[in-house]
Amino acid sequence: MQTLTTILKNAIVLTMNQDLDIFDPGAVAIDGCDIVAVGSEERILACYQADEVIDCANKVLMPGLINTHTHIPMTLLRGLADDLRLDVWLMGYMMPVEREFVSPEFVRLGTKLGCAEFIRSGVTTFNDMYYFEDHVAEATAEAGLRAVAGQTVMKFSAPDAESFEDSLALSESLIQKWQDHPLIVPAIAPHAVYTCTPDVLTSVVELANKYDARVHFHVSETKDEVENLRKEHGMPVVPYIRKFGMLTTKLTAAHCVFLDEGEIRSLQHAGVGIAHNPTSNLKLASGFAPVPRMLQLGCNVGIGTDGSASNNDLDMFEEIRLANLVAKASSGDPTVLPASQTLEMATIIGAKALHMDDIIGSLEPGKKADLILVDLSPVHNQPRFMRDPNGIYAQIIYAAKSTDVTDTMVNGTWLMKDRKLLTLNVEELVAEAAKIAAKIDEFLIGREESVFSKLIAIGGAAEEESFEVQAKVKVDSIDPVFEALSKPGITILRKRHYHEYDTYFGFDKPSQGRLRYREDEFLDETGKISSVRSRLTLIGELDTPRDLNDSQIMLSRSRYLAPATHSLRFYNEYFKPSSKLEIEKNRLRYLIQFKDTEFFINLDTIQKPDIGKFVEIKSRTWSRQDADQKTALIHELAAYLGLDQTKINTQDYLQIVENLLEK
Ligand SMILES: [Zn+2]
Repeated sequence: MQTLTTILKNAIVLTMNQDLDIFDPGAVAIDGCDIVAVGSEERILACYQADEVIDCANKVLMPGLINTHTHIPMTLLRGLADDLRLDVWLMGYMMPVEREFVSPEFVRLGTKLGCAEFIRSGVTTFNDMYYFEDHVAEATAEAGLRAVAGQTVMKFSAPDAESFEDSLALSESLIQKWQDHPLIVPAIAPHAVYTCTPDVLTSVVELANKYDARVHFHVSETKDEVENLRKEHGMPVVPYIRKFGMLTTKLTAAHCVFLDEGEIRSLQHAGVGIAHNPTSNLKLASGFAPVPRMLQLGCNVGIGTDGSASNNDLDMFEEIRLANLVAKASSGDPTVLPASQTLEMATIIGAKALHMDDIIGSLEPGKKADLILVDLSPVHNQPRFMRDPNGIYAQIIYAAKSTDVTDTMVNGTWLMKDRKLLTLNVEELVAEAAKIAAKIDEFLIGREESVFSKLIAIGGAAEEESFEVQAKVKVDSIDPVFEALSKPGITILRKRHYHEYDTYFGFDKPSQGRLRYREDEFLDETGKISSVRSRLTLIGELDTPRDLNDSQIMLSRSRYLAPATHSLRFYNEYFKPSSKLEIEKNRLRYLIQFKDTEFFINLDTIQKPDIGKFVEIKSRTWSRQDADQKTALIHELAAYLGLDQTKINTQDYLQIVENLLEK
């Protein structure tokens, strides 16, 4: 009789093989890192003996869970910023904090924390995307878990790379270093279409093809992503990335919330793996991925937790249950995604989604010994019905909890036995995490105090300060100005005509200055829009304007300019201004030369707001009888300005309006 390393006997064995064979009582025979045999206990014990024989009474023995999409070091950012829209969350909080704090040490600690959570909740393989991925790989290998480690590549500078060329170089050395490792599969992880240029995508595909490497990519996560791509390139995400050859790589596409029928078929045809992330999609209100349809068409749809900054836990049991429930609720059909198929998504289909089903995903001879034991004795798992053998899947999907996982084995090595972690010291990791959290808190508190530092934090702000002297004069007719411009001694160097849409954000403390979001529509000779530009300007507190009768002279003010790369909605949610004022004007702008000095002359016609209304409130002598009419006018103006009418009195309104208009 052959003597092996380990035999697990007297278990309810869910093989998750092609026929979904169940053995009860069943046994699994393991030698080294490989599964040698799976079957009825009687048959296995008749053929094999082992150094370690474990009785698994009352336990389900099944393949370890496969988390097809995560950013494991983000365990250190769990609970940092929540209840925000994806772009504000990502560009406003995650990326700035990551730029400041993410280092090899940060990544190692976050990875180990995440590994502890994975091992405890029965995850044996995860598909990762992050920075310093070489360190993620090292920490994971030390913890004993299996991972596809994807080095992030994107157009912005990242914590580990100045440019995308640098991150490609990191990807290549990651691949060379880890390609033959028993636990780590190196990969390239271009972040998303909105963070990657065509150059980035082309280079990623080249590198992936050179090494036959896996690619891990966010695809069609939000409606905005798809709509923006349609606007810019006239097509949705899947045909767009296909142009770069992305579908010919061993690709795993995360999210896939907004795909049309044709795109789903393309992914299926190309054998692209899909990672479904129900918690993240629900929490960020991204939407409902068409999971039943994708499965029906034969796509390999695995399940993933996404990072713990958007989930906020790495609990695959919860994720599996949500995947199941969301599919039923969003399709209005409780028969879709039965329990057995849901568990397939988290095991064998997940393995296919990572292009790794040759070694993991099911308990079959020849595969790696990645498995877990789930205890059915807790009260929430009782009683058990034997009539329908498939009932056991329902037990796991609808009732069992991650805390029911008692033992976890990866590659033939126990990482947890009787709920005791064998490769990691959680107390130490948690104490280290608390120290980093305190530093991040301090950083964000400091940043939130100043509009300027918030502007710098989102990257775009070129710290370009300018000073200017402005003279403002109200004119009843602009004809005299035109006449003056044609006088000798004045040379018109340049003339432009545009339509300006300004939104001014005001803040509680005047010392914060005001932030202006400006969209310029440049108009050609015929008045048609020739181009559009968006800019942000942080305007410092004004020197008291000097009144010269009807005009004002402003001597200087600081201005920080930045291209507005996000939407007005983004800036509104990110800066949370206390007041807003929209001004729309038609502007003729001349650059003139007068005696060796160049000046700009702007001729503005204000089209919005209705200044007449303001003037009426200010200038009219209001009698007692007209009080209601005055209040109504003020409220109209206040509503227009987006001011909270419950918190502010009439005098304040007028003061705010006056300040805004006079500036
Ligand atoms: Zn993600």
